Amino acid sequence: MGTATEPKIRGGQPSIPATMPQEQPERLPLGPLKTIHVFWMAGMSCDGCTITVAGATNPGIEGLLMGTVPAMPKVLLHHPVLSVESGAEFMQSFKDAHAGTLGDPYVVVFEGSVPDERIAKRTGGYWSAMGSELMSGEAEGGRHAVVPTTEWLSRLAPGAAATIAIGTCATWGGIPSAEGNPTGAMSVMDFLGKDYRSAFGLPVINIPGCAPQGDNFTETVFAILLFLQGIGPLPAFDELGRPSWLYGETVHQGCTRAGYYEEGVFTKEYGGKECLVEIGCWGPVVNCNIVKRGAINHMGGCMAAGGICIACTMPGFPDKFSPFYKAPPGGIISTTMSRGVGGVIRRLRRLSNRHANRERRWDVNDDVPSGWANLPGSTVGLKAMEFFYQKWQHWGARKPGRNPGEEQRLWGGMRPGKPSDYIDDSVSEGK
Ligand code: SF4
Repeated sequence: MGTATEPKIRGGQPSIPATMPQEQPERLPLGPLKTIHVFWMAGMSCDGCTITVAGATNPGIEGLLMGTVPAMPKVLLHHPVLSVESGAEFMQSFKDAHAGTLGDPYVVVFEGSVPDERIAKRTGGYWSAMGSELMSGEAEGGRHAVVPTTEWLSRLAPGAAATIAIGTCATWGGIPSAEGNPTGAMSVMDFLGKDYRSAFGLPVINIPGCAPQGDNFTETVFAILLFLQGIGPLPAFDELGRPSWLYGETVHQGCTRAGYYEEGVFTKEYGGKECLVEIGCWGPVVNCNIVKRGAINHMGGCMAAGGICIACTMPGFPDKFSPFYKAPPGGIISTTMSRGVGGVIRRLRRLSNRHANRERRWDVNDDVPSGWANLPGSTVGLKAMEFFYQKWQHWGARKPGRNPGEEQRLWGGMRPGKPSDYIDDSVSEGK
């Protein structure tokens, strides 16, 4: 961690990513913590991640900021958009954290990709920056230069209890790092390097998505804070630093349209109710929980709203999944197989569905007393199928119902306007 007496940096001359990080600060003690600072920084960002986190509901950020969540420390958020402070007052906490005089542990959250400031420096500019400092060699009152956000990341990440990259730009480089990449954009992980560890010994934690679900972020922060409090286990992360309970399964495995895929039924237009794979959905190979969790407040989400999955949570996004309007090349194999097998399965299920849509009484009386439609009685073929189906269903088990010989007593009854069909010979009606 740096000190308050470190030389001032010169604007446009940030430290070079390949040299980071060098220092291994002391590990932080476990909780309980009363307060924890969160330093939110934005690189090449559209601020979409900020918006999505502000909309998180389960859990929401309000409880964390108010310090009203049981067992949770109060979170002091330093955010370039949401904080009330501005200017030098806003930047002071960043400087204190860098100087080691903050007094409380802190977490770094980075939104947007990390640009290569060396490219901007060639023309004396910068890609993204926050605050300004005296240029080196200048006396008090001299010229100031802006401080690139990458410099703040370099300064604060080594001393952070955890560094969290939010959104696909920060986790994998995202759209700014697409083919061409004029800014040299990269992920936080690429910038800090393989050897980076937070003060608590954690590599970069990644919450991908463009934008990710806000709840994925707040839930992960909750889990980390519980761990830092010493009352929860270290949350499980996969080999790329994603919370494995959130990103361990594919979109397809949680998609409400997966039943259509299985039966080989595919839509030809956006918004159709069937599976969207033939119009470009990449869900079967994408790690994301958007359909299970919904976009906001458990509602919406790409496929739930009729749109395809364009793989925005994936490290290969966007280049490996474009053009988005084309079907995934490998999809033709699985959809062809699904059409063949699913076509048979679908027909068998329709028969079972018809069987399941009838009361047992209707089967016995061979009559469906519905005022909505004339439903056909059972055919010989269907009766035969049901016979063997039930034999198989109750094979090795006791079939529910009355004992053999008593079945008739079940299906009679007095019905208004109908003669009685109570057909139990052992009992006389009216007695
Ligand atoms: Fe899978 Fe996409 Fe079809 Fe959903 S719409 S079932 S994610 S291929």
